[in-house]
Amino acid sequence: MSILKIAVQKSGRLSEKSLQLLADCGIKISNGERRLKAVSPNFPIEVLFLRDDDIPQYVEEGVADAGMLGENEVWEKDKNVTVIKKLGFASCRLSLAVPKDANYAGPQYFSGKKVATSYPVILQKFFDQNNLDTAIETISGSVEIAPAIGLADGIFDIVSTGSTLQINGLKEVEVVTKSEAVLISNPNLSAEKQQILDKLLFRIQSVKNAAENKYILLNAPDKAIPEIIKILPGMKSPTVLPLAEAGWSSIHSVIREDAFWDIIDQLKALGAEGILVTNVEKMIL
Ligand code: ATP
Ligand code: MG
Repeated sequence: MSILKIAVQKSGRLSEKSLQLLADCGIKISNGERRLKAVSPNFPIEVLFLRDDDIPQYVEEGVADAGMLGENEVWEKDKNVTVIKKLGFASCRLSLAVPKDANYAGPQYFSGKKVATSYPVILQKFFDQNNLDTAIETISGSVEIAPAIGLADGIFDIVSTGSTLQINGLKEVEVVTKSEAVLISNPNLSAEKQQILDKLLFRIQSVKNAAENKYILLNAPDKAIPEIIKILPGMKSPTVLPLAEAGWSSIHSVIREDAFWDIIDQLKALGAEGILVTNVEKMIL
């Protein structure tokens, strides 16, 4: 029987969340001793633990069939792999930053200057698009100290809160692109492997749907039901059950997490009471 080899980061910002996602998909992985690979006892996959930089190459070569990594590494390595799905974690931006007292008026600032980065491919594309002749100094880490030690005039790096920039006396001046963790695969998987990958994708989608939605129960006067149904569309349509007290019903539905507080305010205004909201563990559409 076929087995799908999936590469995840061995240790770093992506490791825990990648394994958590597999766990949420009901896939057991035992990696107590942090070995190089682990086979799941209840799903036909083998997990390979690698450096994230190496994942695109291994997936292109078929050493791994699929992988989870930051989209930034996919762009940077520019290998022949298929990006299948955004995974919703490790969100960050890739930005240009300059010393905080620099007089920055636009990308032209970088003309004739030098920028230090670990992402020269992504950065060169940005400079090409802007017709800038900027030198790129490729270094593998601690990029943020480059201006202070006189190595470069600015940096191009991953930013999430901006606190690292601030500590190093830098300011973010251009967001070049945004990235998050993605699932990639080799473009030429066998039919059997593709089937396993599709099964995994289906589970990932169910977990993501669940995370983006809440289950809501409330009591409402019958006369408010038509209005409430308009703001609580549900998966098909909401469930409406009569309460023992005449003139009142219980309404059950699913709402999106991002619209949550708005919807609650509207429901209260329509006379809803006893509103209960719970997490959804899996959601199959
Ligand atoms: P490795 O040893 O595997 O090469 P690394 O040092 O290259 O690890 P990490 O720092 O663990 O990588 O980051 C892995 C990925 O996580 C990055 O490529 C990026 O997509 C994302 N990431 C990095 N920093 C942040 C951050 N501050 N906030 C959110 N996501 C981040
Ligand atoms: Mg890396």
